[in-house]
Amino acid sequence: MMPSMLRIRHQTISHTESDDMKTMTCRELGGACDQKLSAETWDEMVKTMTKHVMDKHPDTAKAMEKMHNEDPKKWGREMKPKWDAKAED
Ligand SMILES: [Zn+2]
Repeated sequence: MMPSMLRIRHQTISHTESDDMKTMTCRELGGACDQKLSAETWDEMVKTMTKHVMDKHPDTAKAMEKMHNEDPKKWGREMKPKWDAKAED
């Protein structure tokens, strides 16, 4: 008999339609203001946030760069669940 506990949960890969935008604020992503940032994918959100932080919050950008150098996955580990929890607009 196969124990049902061994069943592996498959992660569904998100389909990418052009209007599947999600919006998060700078603050939700560890930034310093309430600017709304929209993106279709997490990778795009990371780029959007990085650009915003470099433009608007040089100090935060430095802190994030330092964090990235120490642990490249840390920021994503903390912020990605928030992204995943967001409903599409
Ligand atoms: Zn900001």
